[in-house]
Amino acid sequence: MQTVSTEADLEQFRTEARRWLEANAELHTSVGATGDDEVGADAWGAGSDSVAVFYNISEEEESALLAASQDWQRRKFDAGYAMLNWPLELGGRGLPNSYVRTYNTEEARFVIPSAGELPPTSMGLIATTISAFGTEQQKQRFVAPLMRQDIYGCQLFSEPSAGSDLASLTTRAVRDGDEWVLDGQKVWTSGAKFAQWGLAIARTDFDAPKHKGQTAFLVPFEAPGVEVRGIRQMTGGTNFNEVFLTGVRLQDDLRLGAVGDGWRVALTCLGFERDHSGGGGGSHVGGGYRQVAALAEHLAVTTDPVVRQTLADLYIHHRVTQYTNRRAATRIKAGQTPGPEASLGKLMWTANMARVSDAVSSLLGPRLLADTGEWGTYAWGEHVLGAPGYRIAGGSDEIQRNIIGERVLGLPAEPKVDKDMPFSATKRA
Ligand SMILES: Cc1cc2nc3c(=O)[nH]c(=O)nc-3n(C[C@H](O)[C@H](O)[C@H](O)COP(=O)(O)OP(=O)(O)OC[C@H]3O[C@@H](n4cnc5c(N)ncnc54)[C@H](O)[C@@H]3O)c2cc1C
Repeated sequence: MQTVSTEADLEQFRTEARRWLEANAELHTSVGATGDDEVGADAWGAGSDSVAVFYNISEEEESALLAASQDWQRRKFDAGYAMLNWPLELGGRGLPNSYVRTYNTEEARFVIPSAGELPPTSMGLIATTISAFGTEQQKQRFVAPLMRQDIYGCQLFSEPSAGSDLASLTTRAVRDGDEWVLDGQKVWTSGAKFAQWGLAIARTDFDAPKHKGQTAFLVPFEAPGVEVRGIRQMTGGTNFNEVFLTGVRLQDDLRLGAVGDGWRVALTCLGFERDHSGGGGGSHVGGGYRQVAALAEHLAVTTDPVVRQTLADLYIHHRVTQYTNRRAATRIKAGQTPGPEASLGKLMWTANMARVSDAVSSLLGPRLLADTGEWGTYAWGEHVLGAPGYRIAGGSDEIQRNIIGERVLGLPAEPKVDKDMPFSATKRA
């Protein structure tokens, strides 16, 4: 496998990747599938009209989607395209990020099975966090299987009283000889129903200040005491779950990172999450400019000045978001740590989803609410109802604005009266 890079290598790599994709996947039927996914409009009436942000499907259907995603990822992994920029010792190819971008540009022209939040969480958040904090044995045990989708991992962070203020979590982990015993409740866990593992943050020292007494664990869902219950959301599906941990016993080799270092593990994982969603990873969720343009063409309203203005507005915001994401990627490429651009990128992404909702609502009117069976119309309801969820997930809009206010604009930080107090002495609801 290729491990060095020059311009010529990159072009050769592009040709090989394209050939492999052509042999293994179907091209999108979009008009002008040129590799530049910003131009043109999707072909009307071709393929699925789903623009769902969250699936509204049965467990069997979701399981079938995951099986298709798994099948694709295994082929991609075995062909050497799944871990291009990962270190060789973890099963990667040690190539620069330019190869990942090149591959992603090529792959975007093809229909790739997607299966909701679990695969990207598992690969983009859990595998990466394990690679940052894991022991050699943990990295070997988890990283490649997560990246090949042989196993799935989810994020057991939020609790009923700890979301934006995650550091207030109260799930408890108590040491008992070589084992830890976990008790508590997690909530909003995306994909838990189909995951085999969860990355949990638990409190191991209630007398330390709230950010300090936490520790991270890898929790096998087959362990006695783990119970997963689906939460029904307004789109109809149950992509999220409550996860109850009752006397769950874990060997110490499932502790991720040092005792008391859980907050750093959590922040690292949340950083990967912000980079993923802010960096364009989520930009293919729901409907986008191309589908709105296709709808406007179908409705024959593209000469209407207001519609033209709306489409231009969507397009401009879409492009500005892309440039912001590229700026963030360039920082990372230059060896700098991801900055507040990820917060900007996430805000722009969720604002764009809301703009799309507004645009289709005014284009479709009552057709958004009444299912006439017409392709590409009623289906938009699943975008409109799902989009607000991402304004909360992975740090709400308000929290992203706090980050930008403090780190970009240099505004005074929020008062944190309980920061240095023992957690056990803080007042909690
Ligand atoms: C689609 C989706 C997927 C998710 N997936 C997961 C997952 O897989 N794993 C997981 O652990 N969690 C997950 N979550 C939970 C998510 O991380 C939390 O919902 C989020 O952090 C907000 O926490 P909360 O719901 O407790 O709201 P709260 O923190 O109670 O916030 C309520 C409101 O107050 C505002 N607010 C809170 N604090 C401040 C502040 N300091 N300044 C200004 N405004 C503030 C918030 O912006 C919000 O509007 C998911 C959530 C969603 C919506």
